[in-house]
Amino acid sequence: MPELPEVEALTDLLTEHLVGLRVARVLPAAVSVLKTYDPPVTAFEGVRVTGVRRHGKFLDLAADSGLHLVIHLARAGWLQWRDRLPDGRPKPGKGPLALRVALETGEGFDLTEAGTQKRLAVYVVRDPAQVPGIARLGPDPLAADFDEARLAALLKDERRRLKGALRDQSLIAGVGNAYSDEILHAARMSPFKLAASLTPEETHHLYEALRGTLTDAVERSRGVAAGRLKSEKKSGLRVHGRTGEPCPVCGDTIREVSFSDSSLQYCPTCQTGGKPLADRRLSRLLK
Ligand SMILES: [Zn+2]
Repeated sequence: MPELPEVEALTDLLTEHLVGLRVARVLPAAVSVLKTYDPPVTAFEGVRVTGVRRHGKFLDLAADSGLHLVIHLARAGWLQWRDRLPDGRPKPGKGPLALRVALETGEGFDLTEAGTQKRLAVYVVRDPAQVPGIARLGPDPLAADFDEARLAALLKDERRRLKGALRDQSLIAGVGNAYSDEILHAARMSPFKLAASLTPEETHHLYEALRGTLTDAVERSRGVAAGRLKSEKKSGLRVHGRTGEPCPVCGDTIREVSFSDSSLQYCPTCQTGGKPLADRRLSRLLK
């Protein structure tokens, strides 16, 4: 799933390729992809793109008509830039294609989504804040004013555990399952540590890990072609998705905790005092 660093890289890529150009067609190929109908998606045809911005994990294409095309790639969605789009309309319901945006120049991009759960979402709105997911977003962790005091204030009364809190878009925008694992590994903290229990020193470590992990990932992703972003993201991860591999810091075996629809990875030596966390799925099976 693309998170803040990948969406930031896509924002750069689209800024470079789209700004100043005119959109010829917006062609939905999957039924469920469009989440708004007024204004209709065709209202984005014929407009000139004036800017591309990121809000959390959302991409926002602004047009000279005042309209915005907002994209949320969700869990299995991706964006592919095409120097030359095929002629004709895409066939609805065939393959992973969800929506195609064609420019007058013949270039454009495809939004694709793998798997059977279709969550990729596209909105045409007059104001990005009309997208409920954007209206709910918490502060951006890479914003200039996101300092240590801001993080401390967010966590002060937070009753959830760190893993869940960091992933909540309304608390902090842009961090998902992968980077929350990476941030907690860099901060040497258990994913199950209670957010409100952090001492000022721990808050400092978490802040450094949050900014450092995301800044490094943004730097790595910048300038990487859209098609290679997914593998670039994967290669930069130290614990996420690496169950059974050695921790690059201490050599201990990376472990995993599974939930019904996701899993987290961590290093026991670096994060939980050497103690493996109970895997709820496994312990339920063993009962
Ligand atoms: Zn380790």
